[in-house]
Amino acid sequence: MKVTIDPDAGFCFGVSRAIAAAENELSAGGELYCLGDIVHNSEELERLKSKGLKVITHEDLPMLSGKKVLIRAHGEPPQTFETASKLNITLIDATCPIVNKLQQRISKSSQASAVEGGSVLIYGKPGHAEVVGLVGQTDGKAIVINKKEDLDKVDFSKPVHLYSQTTMDKEGLDDIAGEIEKRLENSGGQGVKVHNTICGQVSGRAPLVRAFAMKHDVIVFVSGKKSSNGAWLFSICHTQNERSYFVSSKEELQKDWFRGAESVGVTGATSTPPWLLNEIAGEISTF
Ligand code: SF4
Repeated sequence: MKVTIDPDAGFCFGVSRAIAAAENELSAGGELYCLGDIVHNSEELERLKSKGLKVITHEDLPMLSGKKVLIRAHGEPPQTFETASKLNITLIDATCPIVNKLQQRISKSSQASAVEGGSVLIYGKPGHAEVVGLVGQTDGKAIVINKKEDLDKVDFSKPVHLYSQTTMDKEGLDDIAGEIEKRLENSGGQGVKVHNTICGQVSGRAPLVRAFAMKHDVIVFVSGKKSSNGAWLFSICHTQNERSYFVSSKEELQKDWFRGAESVGVTGATSTPPWLLNEIAGEISTF
């Protein structure tokens, strides 16, 4: 049985960068706190915690005066930066540059909407850290759209800007944009500007993972259970190859999945560490 690791799997650029920033600080021997999970992968999180990283929430900030706090790739709203400055906390800002640019674009659209009228919509998951950071750029005025019914809250008589959380799927964004067009026709509104701000590192993975899933008898997909990108990419694998299995650690592997298989492909989400893909591929090779 041949076991192949997907050459395109592993961390996206933003997550790699945030982890490198954390490891840099930790190797210098200092204390480092991270606002929220640095990556949606518990194995990688445990590895970093064992090196001294402490995961905190916003409620912990008042106790961390004089300490170093890392902002993860998802970014934060401006209020977090203001709070940290008041508390004399040193921030290590590892916001992904792609998210950072999106925050700036949303902020500009929101300022224009405040002058001309209109709404800024963000297609994303309510409460997701990146979305909270994006809404924060608009003083809380942006409307989060997760499903078509959420559009009932929007005034279509004024211009509308539609953005997307970077990790959403293109089909979903197209669906929401199509529904907006329909509502505009019915209401005689002023139009919508759709900004496709889905990250290429996410959308580019879909065709690659589809092709990889077709090449092997069995696919083992490795991801944290909290990763929305992982759930989405796994669904693509499973549609392509019904012998696809989702695991978060080598302990979840089952020998009978591989019965009669000649080739096994191991792949994962943009938050899956390369060392974990290697570990799981190594374990499968012993079956
Ligand atoms: S998915 Fe894209 S936007 Fe999000 S952290 Fe990774 S590189 Fe940055």
